[in-house]
Amino acid sequence: MTEQQKILTTNFGAPVNDDQNSMTAGNPGPILMQDVHLLEKLGHFDRERIPERVVHAKGAGAYGYFEVTHDVTQYTRAKFLSEVGKKTELFIRLSTVGGERGSADAERDPRGFAIKFYTEEGNYDLVGNNTPIFFIRDPLKFPDFIHTQKRHPVTNLKDPDMFWDFLSLTPESIHQVTFLFSDRGTPRSFRHMHGFSSHTYMWYNDENDYFWVKYHFKTEQGIQNLTREEADRMKSVDPDHATRDLHQAIESGEYPSWRLEVQIMTPKQAESYRFDPFDITKVWPHADFPPITVGRMVLNRNPLNYFAEVEQSAFSPANFVPGIGPSPDKMLQGRLFSYHDTHLHRLGPNFHLLPVNAPKACAAHNYQRDGFMSFGATSGGYPNYYPNSFSGPAPDAKAGEPARNISGLAARQPYTHPNDDFVQAGDIYRKVLTDTDKTNLIGNIVSHLGNAQKRIQLRQTAIFYKADSDYGRRVAEGLGLNVNDVVALAAMSQEERVNATQENI
Ligand code: NDP
Repeated sequence: MTEQQKILTTNFGAPVNDDQNSMTAGNPGPILMQDVHLLEKLGHFDRERIPERVVHAKGAGAYGYFEVTHDVTQYTRAKFLSEVGKKTELFIRLSTVGGERGSADAERDPRGFAIKFYTEEGNYDLVGNNTPIFFIRDPLKFPDFIHTQKRHPVTNLKDPDMFWDFLSLTPESIHQVTFLFSDRGTPRSFRHMHGFSSHTYMWYNDENDYFWVKYHFKTEQGIQNLTREEADRMKSVDPDHATRDLHQAIESGEYPSWRLEVQIMTPKQAESYRFDPFDITKVWPHADFPPITVGRMVLNRNPLNYFAEVEQSAFSPANFVPGIGPSPDKMLQGRLFSYHDTHLHRLGPNFHLLPVNAPKACAAHNYQRDGFMSFGATSGGYPNYYPNSFSGPAPDAKAGEPARNISGLAARQPYTHPNDDFVQAGDIYRKVLTDTDKTNLIGNIVSHLGNAQKRIQLRQTAIFYKADSDYGRRVAEGLGLNVNDVVALAAMSQEERVNATQENI
């Protein structure tokens, strides 16, 4: 043993004399109950795994900073955005969505893009994706949607029938399906993709004027994707390629960066806009809401302990700071509950005390106490109730968001503009994708949808056709479907289409 080498101890600091031989009665012989070192070691090992995230289970993380480059104080009073040149430490977790912890990074899937800004007014979490939109617009559908992306309850296999059955019965998904099956569904790495808030949020300034805002983090490495063939190969050659790429880039000083742009909409513009701006299946066209640059995010430090810092990191879109709040986007409203709730289940009631999750630029003070794994960080020398006439913390009335008028029916009701699900999916096909992008999109769809039942293929292809006739025709031809059948189905209402494709054809 070298002089500097530390002595091996139990978890409670007692020295251990032998870590290679269990304590037995006789030799060989039964192991003694009094081998407390063995019991502690096995007992801890048995509990090493915690429940994996039900979504976004596979991910990589890094620390970095956000620097403000443009003045946005007319829109928000958030202190971390209050001054050009101001830097705020952050932690990011980048992930796939549907796969388990051991799944391949190159799977076709949206990529999670979750950022925790350690601001002086508390932690601000922005929990986005690498796409500006989502498959569904009501959180009531979320568990069903995710079930269809995971494993079949009987076979424990990924199942093309349930995947496409749900999507073809949920036409609002067509815009995101088009993104997902384009080559942007398989980014070359976490560094070569954009990040989006996807949701709309509220920003409000010192005067309590409020604005609706969408965030776009534009990669400064440039967009790069894998083709389907490259992604399939990568899955077998290096299932962890994106995790490795991020770690190695940061380790070698090649710090990845993104430029943050926002789109701003006034409440007045929102009232009269041609579609519901809070519907997450739609983007706000740039021509109507030109992006404004806010700042730059740089990732420059790898975590030292994957489990402690990445696996136990816990983000919630409900973590706001003064100057930023929620919008009525229904998917966001559902996530405000669900993220915090899942961390309570996965990590326990004191997950906020873990170093990666705790505020770094300010302290937390409140009257919440105890629970599993409490280590007293918030139970300082003041009472555990409010109000009190001692030295306990008190609310700051200035910290609240502006009051808003809300009226209408309390009811289960769809968004008020449900009929234009196909326009933007058609726009991306017609206006944005190159000829090569279109060919790859069709090939990616055909190779996946081709594994589903024919009636489901027909129903889904009719939805592609409704987005754009060329798009639908090419998918139909790729699948060997009769284009006339697809055209007829596309002309029907969704209800008629569902009825017409109930039986296997
Ligand atoms: P614009 O032409 O102003 O914007 C199109 C956007 O698409 C740009 O952000 C572009 O930037 C991005 N883009 C380019 N190639 C692809 C691709 N292969 N896959 C996905 N995105 C791509 O048009 P609009 O704002 O009117 O939007 C038209 C369509 O573009 C929308 O229906 C939507 O599907 C798509 N889109 C729109 C976005 C928005 O926020 N308005 C954002 C992303 C896509 P870049 O290459 O840097 O990503």
